[in-house]
Amino acid sequence: MQSQILVINCGSSSLKFSVINPADKSVMLEGIAEQLQSPQGSITLKYQQTKQSLPLKSPYDHQAALDSIVKFLTEQSLMALIQAIGHRVVHGGEKFNQPTLLDTQVIDNIKTLSPLAPLHNPANVIGIEACLKAFPDLPQVAVFDTAFHQTLPQHAYLYGIPLELYQEHSIRKYGFHGTSHYYVVNKAAEYLNKPINQCNFISAHLGNGCSVTAVKQGQSVDTSLGMTPLEGLIMGTRSGDIDAGIIFDLAERLGYQLEEIKTLLNKQSGLLGLSGLSNDCRELEQAANEGNARASLALDIFAYKAAKTIASFAVCFNQLDGIIFTGGIGENSSLIREKITQHLALLHININSDTNNNLERGTICNIASAASIPCLIIPTNEELVIANQTNQLLSEEKRNV
Ligand code: AMP
Repeated sequence: MQSQILVINCGSSSLKFSVINPADKSVMLEGIAEQLQSPQGSITLKYQQTKQSLPLKSPYDHQAALDSIVKFLTEQSLMALIQAIGHRVVHGGEKFNQPTLLDTQVIDNIKTLSPLAPLHNPANVIGIEACLKAFPDLPQVAVFDTAFHQTLPQHAYLYGIPLELYQEHSIRKYGFHGTSHYYVVNKAAEYLNKPINQCNFISAHLGNGCSVTAVKQGQSVDTSLGMTPLEGLIMGTRSGDIDAGIIFDLAERLGYQLEEIKTLLNKQSGLLGLSGLSNDCRELEQAANEGNARASLALDIFAYKAAKTIASFAVCFNQLDGIIFTGGIGENSSLIREKITQHLALLHININSDTNNNLERGTICNIASAASIPCLIIPTNEELVIANQTNQLLSEEKRNV
């Protein structure tokens, strides 16, 4: 068995992990620790085609989860195969535009970026520090969600607010989901048999978090998520774009505190807030089918906003080679794809309903009708990108020694 990379993706109460061989892209094991910090916490994983759960000891935190994962890897004699660890880190600010070997200075820099991603970066750091304790001898690499968008031109990343706020306080658009967009546009170019530097795509990552990115000749030139992962499309629980004036109205007329507004826009809005039912697209589709008008409205608004953003990114190109759908909703919801593309006829995007409704799950597919530009469904694989980039960086480091 060849050398493997352990990929870690830490959220505030979860830790996703997988062991991937970058040489042949095979996944040796993958799993998730959920509801961390609570006695309900659990760890489940799939190894050798079998699903199993691992014990999680008090205090049920990220460190306890990693201890349990290490014990499992040791018992299965897998520890020696792991050559390095690749971490997903959400916010790299302007400092990090490529995968970076972790040391105390880099970790400190990631910590200083926490105000830009308060829900994500602290959790990423917890995962990194827990892994340093669990695997003190292994090299560890941070792969940043924002890195792919560091090619955005100034006219795309600056907001219409005083320039000093950018110059002195780094307030600008950074964009997220970079690893996913990078993966799917490269797959799309491969699928269409064209070099990536001759392709223009608009990529829509639609999951619990959602973003659209314009990718010109392989480089991100505009993207819908902003300085924080709140801007842009309507998401599972996040509002996406709203008139900033609403924030003042909530505070001044309705007496909301700042913290309450933050919670409202991040956790109680989007599909959940609109439907009053769920943030989960699948549940809403079922409710809409059963006649729930609010669920139906939420899906319509979600699709309209996504279509509007896709159409707005047409300004980035003279010619477009295709649009891409990925993420849990983009890959699996034929209804949402149909609703979005119905708004895009002016961009010469039309889909074949039969193809759209009868996809083979997990494969790349073009659902465009004959007269349309390609409309591709591409299953994303952020873990593979993290494993590859970790492996690549370490190979370069070895060459340079
Ligand atoms: P992600 O964050 O990428 O894991 O995506 C999660 C979202 O994908 C949730 O809203 C799910 O309801 C949605 N999703 C997953 N499978 C389906 C499906 N078959 N039909 C509609 N939505 C789906």
